[in-house]
Amino acid sequence: MDIPRIFNITESAHRIHNPFTPEKFATLGAALRLESGTRVIDLGSGSGEMLCTWARDHGVIGTGIDLSQLFTEQAKIRAEELGVADQVKFIHGDATGYVSEVKIDVAACVGATWIAGGVAGTIELLVRSLRTGGIILIGEPYWRQLPPTEDVAKGCLANSISDFLMLPELLASFGHLGYDVVEMVLADQNGWDRYEAAKWLTMRRWLETNHDDELAKDVRAKLISEPERYAAYTREYMGWGVFALMVR
Ligand code: SAH
Repeated sequence: MDIPRIFNITESAHRIHNPFTPEKFATLGAALRLESGTRVIDLGSGSGEMLCTWARDHGVIGTGIDLSQLFTEQAKIRAEELGVADQVKFIHGDATGYVSEVKIDVAACVGATWIAGGVAGTIELLVRSLRTGGIILIGEPYWRQLPPTEDVAKGCLANSISDFLMLPELLASFGHLGYDVVEMVLADQNGWDRYEAAKWLTMRRWLETNHDDELAKDVRAKLISEPERYAAYTREYMGWGVFALMVR
């Protein structure tokens, strides 16, 4: 049970598997006014950077679930490194349908909303773990600029323009689902660079020691095409943010 291997290769050196930087997670933690003892779950917790740093900086207690064995191992190592292994737990597994046994204060899915079939389904899943008055965190892309053609959307690795909304529409959509948007922190192009450009050096280094691997050809092709594709499409058109929601 794992994610497609290509992600475990290209993102093996990432601490954060989305366009957020450590500063953005710190901004979000402060914006949410997290208190010591706040209970958090994180579906698709990746390498655990959000939970580990919030445990260190705000004293939160958390559980993360992630389908990547590699990322989950990295999360556990990070928790040890930051001295928070007694506050955060990382589980390797499928977060589909995951509901916590006790009601928690903050329920997050930061950049993995396909886990429950999209934003609406993921909010529905998260709210089942949430105490009354708790906060849901959703990390999601939006169009920073509307792609002029479907080909441009495909260049951004979307299936179609309709995959994502513009920011005002995305915010309105949370209202239509019955939630107040109570905070948001948005990624910027620098954060996108950290997420995307960091894959290039990782791919290059991986190729040097794995030239006979069955994925070597794909990784080589990606290393050649990605910088230009990213600069032409994703960097210009895609936005990304984490949105904090409370039941209206
Ligand atoms: N929230 C993390 C990771 C976001 S990337 C961060 O901010 O760094 C998306 C993550 O979802 C990846 O770590 C991937 O392994 C995980 N994932 C994908 N499908 C999943 C599933 N069905 N259940 C749990 N995790 C999943």
